[in-house]
Amino acid sequence: MNLPIKLLSTDFDGTLFAEFENPPIPVELQKLIAELQASGAKWAINTGREMASLMEALERAGVTIEPDYLVLVEREIHRHHESQYVALEPWNNTCTRVQKEIFNRVREDLPKIVGWINSRFHARIYEDPYSPFCLITGNTADMNAIHEYLNEYCRSVPNLAVVRNDVYARFSHDAYNKGTALGELTRQLGLQSSDVFAAGDHLNDLPMLKTQYAKYVAAPANAVPEVKELVRSEGGYVSERSHGYGVADAIKHYLGRTEG
Ligand SMILES: [Mg+2]
Repeated sequence: MNLPIKLLSTDFDGTLFAEFENPPIPVELQKLIAELQASGAKWAINTGREMASLMEALERAGVTIEPDYLVLVEREIHRHHESQYVALEPWNNTCTRVQKEIFNRVREDLPKIVGWINSRFHARIYEDPYSPFCLITGNTADMNAIHEYLNEYCRSVPNLAVVRNDVYARFSHDAYNKGTALGELTRQLGLQSSDVFAAGDHLNDLPMLKTQYAKYVAAPANAVPEVKELVRSEGGYVSERSHGYGVADAIKHYLGRTEG
């Protein structure tokens, strides 16, 4: 295979997929990815979603191509095998253990954190299997303020990080994010960062949009300013088109197929 891209890591929501567009993943992009896969490249969806919600969204969108790998909840890696996705070990096991350890530490402080938020904002706070603390706010301004507070709290707990995507946030161990998971996948495939393309639109994508993990980084037009800024500073490609159309532009750019 002579193509420069041997592994694609694409965020899902807002990057590949635009729920209110028809189709939610452009046919143009599906064709490009299918073509790369046919040439031997691997495609990973690198998302904050968990398995069931991603599978449902892919099904509903009528997607004709199949990701070779999934990075779920910004950290767990799964490989496509006979119409199922199989957990990649020992990465996922170690990840679960390390997260559990740090979450045990965080639990002591949750009443204080929840109290601080509740006295100032209207927000939804809940626990799920991936974090003892998950947060959804009604608007970006509230999340910006709470994000600052949570970052301050993280300074008091070694290796604790806030993972934020728009108005959603949760805690994670800082060794596990979209970037480190992509690094592990690259290593498992026997590839280098110089073989990797990554595209994303929001804050939880920042760790994978670095040349440390992907030589070819990209953002669609709808990406938040922090993402565009990072992609530009890494010498990457920011498209003038949104969502999947922007990703298609970026792939064509790196394959040297830009017209005009
Ligand atoms: Mg996104």
